[in-house]
Amino acid sequence: MNLHEVFTRFPDQKACIDHLEAIRFANGAYCPLCGSMENVRRSNLKSRVGRWNCHDCKSSFNVLSGTPLSGTHIPLPRWFAVMALMVNAKKSLSSHQLARDLGLTQPTALYMQERLRAVMASDQAGMLAGIIEADETYVGGRPRKQNKRDDSPTGGQGKSDKTPVIGAVERDGKVVAKIADDMTGKGVLNFIQTAVSPAAQILVTDENKAYRAVRGMMAHSVINHRYEYVNGPVHTNTIEGFWSLLKRAWYGSHHKYTVGRMPLFIAEAAWKYNHRKDGCAWDSFTRALFA
Ligand SMILES: [Zn+2]
Repeated sequence: MNLHEVFTRFPDQKACIDHLEAIRFANGAYCPLCGSMENVRRSNLKSRVGRWNCHDCKSSFNVLSGTPLSGTHIPLPRWFAVMALMVNAKKSLSSHQLARDLGLTQPTALYMQERLRAVMASDQAGMLAGIIEADETYVGGRPRKQNKRDDSPTGGQGKSDKTPVIGAVERDGKVVAKIADDMTGKGVLNFIQTAVSPAAQILVTDENKAYRAVRGMMAHSVINHRYEYVNGPVHTNTIEGFWSLLKRAWYGSHHKYTVGRMPLFIAEAAWKYNHRKDGCAWDSFTRALFA
C-alpha cells in the first residue's frame, strides 16, 4: 500500500478504526484486559478512537489498547500515513524527512517512528532453522570514509566509537540481530541459543574463534576470510547483505542518532528484511500491531 492508496482508503478517523477493528476483532470484540467477549460499544463518539465497555471487568478499551499506539492523541490517518512511508522506505527514513513530508514537528515524527519501531520489535523472527550464517559488525560513530574498512571496531584507526551488533540469518529466510553486549564465546553461544533452533543444519561463520563455542550445540563450518570468501555452501554473504542494508540505512538517515536508539533501529531493519517477500508489507505491519 502506498501513501496515495492509504489517503484514499482511510480518509478519516472512522475509516482507520473500522479497518483496525476488522483485523483485531475479526472474531468479535474482546477486552484486552480480561479477554471477555461481553462488550458493548460506547454510544458517545467523543473519544478519538472508538471505545468499548467490558461487562465483566467494567473497564473500557479501544482497538489500540495494549499496543504500542495505546493512548495516542495523534489522529489515526496521520499514523497510517507514517506507517506507509516507513514500511515502504527501503533505507529507513529520518525523522527530519518524515516531518517535512507530512508537516509534523521533528519531535512528533521521531516519537511516531519510535512507537512504530516498537511494533516491529515485538514482531521479530522466531527460532531460525536450516543453514544459518552468523556474524558481527560495528555500526555508528563517524560515517564511512572512502577506501577505509568500516567493519572493524575502530573503522581502521583510533578509539572505537562504534557499537557491536551480532546477527544470524537463514539462507533465503529470516534474520535476527541485536546489540552484542558480549562477543566472547559465552556471549556468542548465549545469542545463538536464543536465536537459532538446536535442530538447525549448520552454522557458518568467519574465522572469529568465539563462534566455536556453538560446537557442542550444532555443526559449525568456518570460511576463513584471510584466504577465501566462498567455498561452495560455506560463506557469510547472506548476513553481509543484511549488514550492508543496516549500515546504508544508519549512515543515510541516522548518523546523528545515539546508541540508545539503536535497538529499535535494528528491529526496523530486521523486520523489513523478514517481510521483504510479503505481498503487502503494510498489511503485515497492521497485523503486527496486534501480534
Ligand atoms: Zn474486561
